[in-house]
Amino acid sequence: MIDALLPCVGGAAALAASARWNWWRPIVADGLPVLAYHKVGDPPAGSKLKKLWVSAREFRWQMQYLLRHGYTPLLFRELYEAETGKRPWPAKPVLVTFDDGYANNAEVAYPIMKEVGVKGNIFLVSEDMDKHNSWHSPASEPWIRMLTWKQVLELRDSGSVEFGSHTMKHPNLPDLTLEQVRWELTESKRRLEEKLGTPILGFAYPYGGGAYVPAIRQAAREAGYRYDFAFRQGMSPRRWDPEKDGPIKRLFIRGDDNRFDFHLNLTRGKARL
Ligand SMILES: [Zn+2]
Repeated sequence: MIDALLPCVGGAAALAASARWNWWRPIVADGLPVLAYHKVGDPPAGSKLKKLWVSAREFRWQMQYLLRHGYTPLLFRELYEAETGKRPWPAKPVLVTFDDGYANNAEVAYPIMKEVGVKGNIFLVSEDMDKHNSWHSPASEPWIRMLTWKQVLELRDSGSVEFGSHTMKHPNLPDLTLEQVRWELTESKRRLEEKLGTPILGFAYPYGGGAYVPAIRQAAREAGYRYDFAFRQGMSPRRWDPEKDGPIKRLFIRGDDNRFDFHLNLTRGKARL
């Protein structure tokens, strides 16, 4: 019942004995694990969202875990090729995703991904590129640098990073009129496609907002995104049907997760109760 990982996790047997952890859930077969990161590195002083920061050390261990356990990290376009029969499905596909598009994705996360050999996908807030996380009040969360367009183009040229949209300005979509929602969805896609010269297949709802509001989700589908990503913890099926299965669920990787949490997220779709 308890997995092979246990011997290498200090004290994990004691942890596993706790029903707070989901080790007792069945292993999800044929799921598509989608890891959801935000920032990699050390949080600035005053950050109230420390859980959104994963240290470089843990991030490296997590990327190495994926390869050690036989996962194949895919770009959105590679997922689409597998779906449409243009490439074989890997035995264990996984998507590594980052929300918002922080500069630390290029400066801290990417060098580690390159070293380990992992590909990833970044959802950009188009209007904040070259700037800072303006949707946060600096009184509650310090402003930090977002990716520059120059960094985005360099990552694109590496062939190991693909980009998706996270709207123009990171609004909570249910707070907007449907007309404004449509603009956030279509204008961000158009702008990214123009800048990058590639189709934009993926969209992530800021705060997860609107993913389960039928009119908003329909607008995302109509904008032409192939994949829309929720912020609901779990794993969607590998052979995902947008109508039947709803927005793609993700595995939120928190800065205070331990390594057993990471293992449970990937195998059970959820680490804790
Ligand atoms: Zn976001």
